[in-house]
Amino acid sequence: MPENVRMQDPAKEKTMQMKTLEVEVVRVKITLACTECKQRNYNMTKEKKNHPERLETKKYCKFCRKHTMHKETK
Ligand SMILES: [Zn+2]
Repeated sequence: MPENVRMQDPAKEKTMQMKTLEVEVVRVKITLACTECKQRNYNMTKEKKNHPERLETKKYCKFCRKHTMHKETK
């Protein structure tokens, strides 16, 4: 009886394709500073796509002890 010779599978090289998902939404870190006392009270991120201009928002300032306008600073 002919011996059934098993062909060993050659080690298949796995081609690892590292696909880096490029996030289209660019989030940037911004700091919000009180416009009255200039204290930097808040750190947050924003989507530059949605807010290309400087962010301005009314937030509570613990230094002024009231809600003031906070502007984005670098
Ligand atoms: Zn303030």
